[in-house]
Amino acid sequence: MIGAFYQPRLVVCDLATLDSLPLRELSAGLAEVIKYGPIADTNFMDWLESSMEALLARERSALAHAVRRSCEIKAWVVSQDEKETGLRAILNFGHTFGHAIEAGMGYGVWLHGEGVAAGMVMAAELSCRLGLVDAAFVERLTALIARAGLPTKGPVLDVTDNAGRYLELMRIDKKSEGGEIRFVLIDGPGKAVVRAAPDALVREVIDACCV
Ligand SMILES: [Zn+2]
Repeated sequence: MIGAFYQPRLVVCDLATLDSLPLRELSAGLAEVIKYGPIADTNFMDWLESSMEALLARERSALAHAVRRSCEIKAWVVSQDEKETGLRAILNFGHTFGHAIEAGMGYGVWLHGEGVAAGMVMAAELSCRLGLVDAAFVERLTALIARAGLPTKGPVLDVTDNAGRYLELMRIDKKSEGGEIRFVLIDGPGKAVVRAAPDALVREVIDACCV
């Protein structure tokens, strides 16, 4: 056996299982589909905008395209990351804030995808405040998430120091290295970057994005 070889992985998805899924869980699943637009493919974001009704109505062809495109983008990101440069971390867009929401509320109170949805808005807002993407893009993503029936604001986890609680939970999360929280941020529509951000700015975002 010489050198490395690429082993294609077969992904099987039985769309019929989506028929019996409660609407809330279907929406939560769509959060993981929506994330691929802002991080990798604005055309897919266009398609999601025009297909959201069909997706929520569980139209088979729309669901099939959403699943197929998600798998393609994921495979592409992972294939670009063969040298373990860390690119695949962009697949966690929305998850840093989202995990804090899940943990802070108690697992199961917010579905994973719901936390990711509000987390994507927060991450996009942080990207905007860092000058990486404009406010119009944040609004566009927020509107798409809302149309999927998902939350666009995070919950208040602590009435005395909400931002402090989020920061504390995000530091506990595995992506925090040496106390530094690494955020997946939008570096222009369809492109993501992983980097740290000043606590003060993260606090502003949390204050602006929680109800
Ligand atoms: Zn996830």
